[in-house]
Amino acid sequence: MKDLSALDMVGYSFYVVWGLWGLAGYLFFYRGRDIAFRKRWHPRLCVFSGLLFLLFTGLFVLNGFTPAVFLLAVPSVAVIAYLSIKNTVFCSSCGKQTFNNNWFSSIEYCPKCGAKL
Ligand SMILES: [Zn+2]
Repeated sequence: MKDLSALDMVGYSFYVVWGLWGLAGYLFFYRGRDIAFRKRWHPRLCVFSGLLFLLFTGLFVLNGFTPAVFLLAVPSVAVIAYLSIKNTVFCSSCGKQTFNNNWFSSIEYCPKCGAKL
């Protein structure tokens, strides 16, 4: 059996950690019905997810990827986290989480229950 390189280990670790992070987010955040908790923690989870991704990007760079990867990863993560925080709304009536895909207007009513957001 072939020995795994450090880069292989970082790659497999990324898959495991990212998968567990996604599962934990689903179980403790998206399935939860506490709207105040979700509103309070959603921005923090977006930032933490971005930092976790950048941590693994750094580990990939330290183990062989070109440092230029950071030139793409850092601004991409920043923009994705910002848009996710800015464009995600939570309905106070039913708890539905909605992502506004239209960057130039806001969502006024919940698409699930019709309540004013
Ligand atoms: Zn609703």
